[in-house]
Amino acid sequence: MVRQLTKIFTLMALLIFTSLALTSIAQAAPRLNELQYLKTYNTEVDGKEVYRIEVGLKRENINYTVKIPTTISSIMVVDFENTVPGRLSQHNSSKISLAEDTTASVKEVKVNYSRLQLRLPFVINEDSYKIYIEKKPYRLIIDIDKSALVNVEEETSDDNFNYKSGSIVIDAGHGGSDSGAIGPSGVTEKEVTLAVALKVQQLLQNAGANVVMTRTTDRDVSWAGSSNGQELQARVDKTPPGAAVFVSIHCNAFSNSITQGMETYYYWGSSEGKILATLLNEELANFGGRFNRGVKGANFYVLKHTSIPASLVELAFITNPEEEYLLANDDYQQQLALAITRAIKRYLEINPNGNLND
Ligand SMILES: [Zn+2]
Repeated sequence: MVRQLTKIFTLMALLIFTSLALTSIAQAAPRLNELQYLKTYNTEVDGKEVYRIEVGLKRENINYTVKIPTTISSIMVVDFENTVPGRLSQHNSSKISLAEDTTASVKEVKVNYSRLQLRLPFVINEDSYKIYIEKKPYRLIIDIDKSALVNVEEETSDDNFNYKSGSIVIDAGHGGSDSGAIGPSGVTEKEVTLAVALKVQQLLQNAGANVVMTRTTDRDVSWAGSSNGQELQARVDKTPPGAAVFVSIHCNAFSNSITQGMETYYYWGSSEGKILATLLNEELANFGGRFNRGVKGANFYVLKHTSIPASLVELAFITNPEEEYLLANDDYQQQLALAITRAIKRYLEINPNGNLND
C-alpha cells in the first residue's frame, strides 16, 4: 500500500514538474514583436477628420498600454510588451520628427519592452483618440479626432503680461554637491528643479519680468562642503532689495514608492505667502491632475528667512516611479513651468510689489 502510494506520488510530482518546466520554457521564449516604421498623416474616418499615427509592426499579436500623463497633455506614451524597437532602433532615445510638429522618441526601456513617446502639437485627452491594430501590413493605428483638439500654441499664448513689479526670485532646489532626492531609476531632484526653474525663468522673461535665479547651472549656491544653513542662507541672500516674490522649486521623496502628489508651502503666519502658495497649488492642480496634497504651513529655512512673500513647491514625488518619469520629461517640465508662471502672474495682479511688511 505504502509502495503504491509512493509510486502515485512520484508520478504526480513528475507530471507537475513537467508541466511547470514546459510553462517556464514557453515564458522564457516569447516571439518578439518589432517596431518597423512610424508615419503620421491626415485622413478621414466615418466622416470625421483625424490625425493618424501609424506604427509598423512585425507581427499581429501585441500587448500594449497607452498612457496620457495628465488630464490635459500633449504627450502620449505607448508601452509595448515583448517588443524590441527593431528598425526604429537607430532612433533609440533620440527624437524623430514627424508631420505637423509631432515628434516621437523610441526607447527600449527594459529587455523586450519598448516605449514609444509621442509629443503632439495639440492637447489630447482620453476621449480624443482611438487605438487599434490593422492588418497587411500589421500596424498599430492611433486616430486622433481633430474636432476634439486644443492647440498647444493657443494654450500657452496667454502668458504675456506686463510687470510693474519688483524682481521675481526663482530658487532651483539643491544642486552641485547636493543631489537632493534620487528616484528609483536615478533621476536626481537637483536636475529636475533646475530644468523647471530655467523654463520658468524663460517664460517670465519672455513676459517682461525681471527674474533673479539662485542658480542657473548644476552648482552649490554657497560652496561644496558648506553647512545646510549656509547653503540655504546663500539662496535667501540672492534676493535683491524690492523683490516681489520668492519661489523655491523642489521634488518630494518618501520611503514608500506609492506615495504621490503635489503640494505647496508657505511660512506659518505669512498671509501673503499663503495666498502665493494657494495660487501655485491651484495652477499646478489645474494643469497636472496629479493627487493634490494641499497648501501647507511650514518652517522651511528659505520661507522663514525671506522677508518677501515666499512659497516652496513640491512638484511631485521623485520616489514614485510614475512621477519620476513625468518629472524627467521635458514636456511635463514645460507644463509645470507654465503653471508656476501663471500662479506668479495671478499673485502679482493682486499684489504687484509684494508685501514687505508681511
Ligand atoms: Zn528638496
